Amino acid sequence: MKEVRFRSVAEVAQRLNPSYPVFLVFPDILRARAKAFLEGFPGTVLYAVKCNPDGHVLRALYAAGVRHFDTASLPEIAKINELFPDAHCYFNHPVKARGALESADDVYGIEHYVVDHISELNKVTEMVGTAITVEVRIATPKGHAVYDLSSKFGASHDDAVALLKDAHGRGCRTAIAFHVGSQCPDPLAFRVAMEAAAKIAGAAGVPVEYLDVGGGYPVTYGEAVPPIEAFFDVIRQARRDFALDMPLLAEPGRALAAEGCSVLAQVQLRKGDSLYINDGVYGCLAEIQLGELKPPVRAIAHPAGGGQERLAGPKKTFRLFGPTCDSLDLFKVHFELPEGIGEGDWIEFGSMGAYSIGMQTAFNGFYTDTVVQVDGLHDEFKFGRL
Ligand SMILES: *Cc1c(COP(=O)(O)O)cnc(C)c1O
Repeated sequence: MKEVRFRSVAEVAQRLNPSYPVFLVFPDILRARAKAFLEGFPGTVLYAVKCNPDGHVLRALYAAGVRHFDTASLPEIAKINELFPDAHCYFNHPVKARGALESADDVYGIEHYVVDHISELNKVTEMVGTAITVEVRIATPKGHAVYDLSSKFGASHDDAVALLKDAHGRGCRTAIAFHVGSQCPDPLAFRVAMEAAAKIAGAAGVPVEYLDVGGGYPVTYGEAVPPIEAFFDVIRQARRDFALDMPLLAEPGRALAAEGCSVLAQVQLRKGDSLYINDGVYGCLAEIQLGELKPPVRAIAHPAGGGQERLAGPKKTFRLFGPTCDSLDLFKVHFELPEGIGEGDWIEFGSMGAYSIGMQTAFNGFYTDTVVQVDGLHDEFKFGRL
């Protein structure tokens, strides 16, 4: 099968003249991001599939050398297995259905399972036996992450120690995992969590096969965040300071996927400072609202209204409304766009690779199923630090 590749986003707009949202994938950017993480992180890199499960994205990351995947459901495991028979999946959801465990073991031979409670440990060993690695997910303090996960998952110090001893006693291999929360701007959150992990490992006194430091590495959406190397430096230093001599794993999602995709939406109506567009809070742009993120935007002129020069003038602030018929489908965050923008013009939302196409709904009949690939590092519209 010959893959269609476009040379630029302007070419996508020209050739498709899309009145529906288009999800744009930049495989070269995804490969660059994955390579930088694989080279910089002092351990094994698992891509967190939930962040963006699109096949084009997964193939680009695989092409860069990603062979390990953090999966949270049977469909995610199945997808990775079908695409990449030589890849390794880790079943890293702390709450798993019995049926999913059965198939994970029987069909896919999964060997790594996360738990954060004794009932889940009982369930896992009952369903898949003890020839596995039990990763105990530990709680991390509430930090500065945009999405704090500490209130949902994670065992306390004492519970984690008990779980590690118990799993070891049953004959399982044991490991420790944490997640500091997504879009975490503070490298020291990793140090704090690694210190907690070291104390738990010491108190449990069992062999720890690896320490999984999770995801959470941020990308910039307007506000500056520390570069990824700052996170790697803190992790390396903490590993020395707390004598964590077991191998490390990381589970980045956003840091690998975000900058390598855009959403191309079209303006369907303008009313003064309000633009009604064809993607919104129930679509691929959901995270703009959930995380109050402000991705970079640029306008692409519809050819019917003359050339791109029409949009070259000064910018003003617009309110953006999504396509569904309810009053919640408008963005709290406002965007600066050319004064001359109007019906038919497109808006490219950059850095939309994370929690976008995987989170959209089909509410009200609006659903994006057009995914196209664009070659190159997309230098006409600068993303992040590329
Ligand atoms: C969501 C998730 C990730 C990925 O998080 P990012 O913030 O996208 O890096 C990694 N591990 C687990 C367990 C997760 O739930």
